[in-house]
Amino acid sequence: MFVYTKTFSSAQVGQIQKEVRCERCDCEYTYQMIRRGSGRSTSVYGLGEKTAKQQAQNVAGVKLAKLLQRQHDPVACPDCGWIQSYMVEDLRRRAHRWIMKLAWVLAAILVVCAILGYVGAATSWANHGVDKEAWLQIGGLGLLAIFVAVAGNVVRVVLSSFINPNRNYPHRPAPIPGAPIGIKQGGAAPPFASVMAPIHPASRHVGPPPLVSPSNALSHEQVNPLIESGGWVTVQLAKAQYPLHCCSCLTGTTTLKQFNCAQLSRIAIPMCKACDKQRIANQTFTIISGLVWGGCLPYLLCLFVQWMSNPVVWTPLGAGIGLVTALCMRGRANPVKFSCFNSDLNTIRLRFRNPAYLQMLIDHGKLV
Ligand SMILES: [Zn+2]
Ligand SMILES: [Zn+2]
Repeated sequence: MFVYTKTFSSAQVGQIQKEVRCERCDCEYTYQMIRRGSGRSTSVYGLGEKTAKQQAQNVAGVKLAKLLQRQHDPVACPDCGWIQSYMVEDLRRRAHRWIMKLAWVLAAILVVCAILGYVGAATSWANHGVDKEAWLQIGGLGLLAIFVAVAGNVVRVVLSSFINPNRNYPHRPAPIPGAPIGIKQGGAAPPFASVMAPIHPASRHVGPPPLVSPSNALSHEQVNPLIESGGWVTVQLAKAQYPLHCCSCLTGTTTLKQFNCAQLSRIAIPMCKACDKQRIANQTFTIISGLVWGGCLPYLLCLFVQWMSNPVVWTPLGAGIGLVTALCMRGRANPVKFSCFNSDLNTIRLRFRNPAYLQMLIDHGKLV
């Protein structure tokens, strides 16, 4: 039976000021924690669409309130650098969740195999009912499913227990990607805006910093700790501020380009009109070349390969495959790539095609 359903998604981003008293030095500090609550609701046969929409919003609001109340960000004490124990616990709870998800998917596949095995054995014409051997195999699959689910959880807990940002205390911990910065009570609160003022021309130098390290310093010590491997950087979508310079050619610009970075989440990054035109031209070129090459290659093959004698079939098929491949690849023309959107924390990882803009963002912008 065909059931017509429509699913509504909603997301709400909110912030809360968290007050902290350091367990080590008794200093009091605050930080702004941002969370994102998302909700879904489904209407059947178009009935109650308005209610479903409202319900999705309500679910998102309730989830957001819970996250803001219960969670903590790993924010180091501004005085001594200690990250509070409950913050570390929260960090561990959120870490390596993919292992649990993978374990549950594997367990579900095993359960489906067990059910299919039972149905297959029960309906088989060769024997009447499920025999002992079949029961043993079905039971074995069920036990394996339970083992996989439990093992996934154990592995996640063990791996998470190694996370200890206070390992080098009293030395300050390395910055945790996406985590906000603590402000000692009485300090000025950071502004809440999405775009920063342009950098003064005098400070526009974005080349490598002058070498001030001692000559025996190791090269890896000069790498900015905020830059993750592969040139990625984590930003808080609600607070990141980008220098008003084109992220591609670095000239000053006030034009913002919106990119869809995840479901219901967009990001506006400065990009000059000339670079945007170039981006659109590159994307169009990729799509047209995918279509033409995808169509031409099978057409030419049809002339030489005997079993591919019918170009009427192969040419559109090749053009279709070429078009789909080109559509998948057109994102390469974008000056920024996205990965690891965290739906709860509202953070995302960015990688700029021009690494000089990343340095500019770290030096003159705001990540969290
Ligand atoms: Zn402290
Ligand atoms: Zn540009």
